[in-house]
Amino acid sequence: MTVATETDVLIVGGGPAGALLGTLLARRGIDVLVVERQTSFDREFRGETLAAPSVVALRRLGFGPALDAHGFLETEAVTMRMEGRDVLHVDYRRFPIGTLPIDIPQPSLIGIFHEAALDLPSFAYASGTAFSELIIEDGTVLGAVLKEPDGTRAEVRARLVVGADGRFSKVRRAAGLEADVKPMARDFLSFKLPRPAGWKQEAELIADGERHIMVLPTFPDLLRIGHNLPKRGLTDLRRAGFESFRDGIAALDPRLAPLLREHLTSWDDTSFLEIFTAELDRWTRDGLVLIGDASHTCTPILGQGVNVALQDAVVLTPVIAAALAESQGPVRERQLAGFVETRRTHKRFVTKFQRMQEAALAMDSPAERVRRRIRYWLLDKLPVKYRLFDRVINAQHEIDPLDLDLARTAEATAGRRVAAAQARG
Ligand SMILES: Cc1cc2nc3c(=O)[nH]c(=O)nc-3n(C[C@H](O)[C@H](O)[C@H](O)COP(=O)(O)OP(=O)(O)OC[C@H]3O[C@@H](n4cnc5c(N)ncnc54)[C@H](O)[C@@H]3O)c2cc1C
Repeated sequence: MTVATETDVLIVGGGPAGALLGTLLARRGIDVLVVERQTSFDREFRGETLAAPSVVALRRLGFGPALDAHGFLETEAVTMRMEGRDVLHVDYRRFPIGTLPIDIPQPSLIGIFHEAALDLPSFAYASGTAFSELIIEDGTVLGAVLKEPDGTRAEVRARLVVGADGRFSKVRRAAGLEADVKPMARDFLSFKLPRPAGWKQEAELIADGERHIMVLPTFPDLLRIGHNLPKRGLTDLRRAGFESFRDGIAALDPRLAPLLREHLTSWDDTSFLEIFTAELDRWTRDGLVLIGDASHTCTPILGQGVNVALQDAVVLTPVIAAALAESQGPVRERQLAGFVETRRTHKRFVTKFQRMQEAALAMDSPAERVRRRIRYWLLDKLPVKYRLFDRVINAQHEIDPLDLDLARTAEATAGRRVAAAQARG
């Protein structure tokens, strides 16, 4: 067995939520083991947009230099076009937050968190290691059984198990925490294309009737395209043929036609995403907490999934530190209650807005389309437009959880790493 048999915190899943939480806990000197079933940080299509409040938070946590060294793409605005008419434009540069949303590939972001933790003595990472089951005694979670890369069964005891294993969380199921899964009306097919020189750094939503695409400039020189399709409509789409799919996209956005012809050559270049939301009444048990998509699955609409996952990690870090310091045994459900309450409020707000947006996009009768266009056009003309969108897009900074203590920890850690590197010559 290669993983430790005991740790303070066992995190299942090294996605954005688990990777950031592992790093923040290790910075505080807390023993943490992150287990990830994949052997690399590579992901299929995943959320790559960090909203401005997340960028601010990550900079305050000391990740700014690593983000700058890697590079990213700043998105300056969002435009909505419906049935060939521009109906809404929001310039992100006008928001008081003073920072733009950025696009950075998810593997790079996870790599940045991981890199920051590697030298920390209380941090351990087990790749290719999968969660199998929970160790539960008298109703309290005391650890987990894992399957190591060579198939060995390993038991790890922990004072807290964190389920950060995503939208199909096995930890959630093992803990008996029921999720209310609600499918959205449509699913998504995504793909990437090279970004032509001079393309605006704007997110665009282009809708025609019930069909729409999102065109998102992304790092380093790509466009990310998301195309909606009716629920379980993939079979029909495939039956109609690849050419017809490509032509449909080109009809929605003729600028893409030459790129599609040259660079989108088969279904293998696309990635399917089933869209649903999952909500849970309970995110915790004695000895266990769920975060990120495991506790509350967002849809990709408005690109909030990564952001809420990161916020979970940031808010939970001081809560775990306080709970571990308060007593000796497993972390109790009551010690996590404040975390759940804060995060649930935020996630509900995000879901409500995503559902409203999805409902507007799913309208398909001619009368509904006209009403939709008028509604967005009126929204565009509203004198309080920027105040309203600031509330929706940058809402996270209203529940900014970063305490100065955390920022100081980040600075101190960064200082120690520099001193250690200098000592090593
Ligand atoms: C195809 C797709 C497209 C998306 N597009 C967007 C977007 O455009 N914008 C946006 O904001 N959000 C998007 N999302 C959502 C976003 O990616 C997620 O909300 C975000 O990644 C959640 O982070 P997380 O850490 O909670 O979970 P995840 O990123 O899902 O990470 C969970 C991790 O747990 C690991 N794991 C799972 N099971 C086990 C196990 N048994 N043992 C060990 N490890 C395990 C997985 O390998 C994974 O690394 C998309 C999601 C998908 C699937």
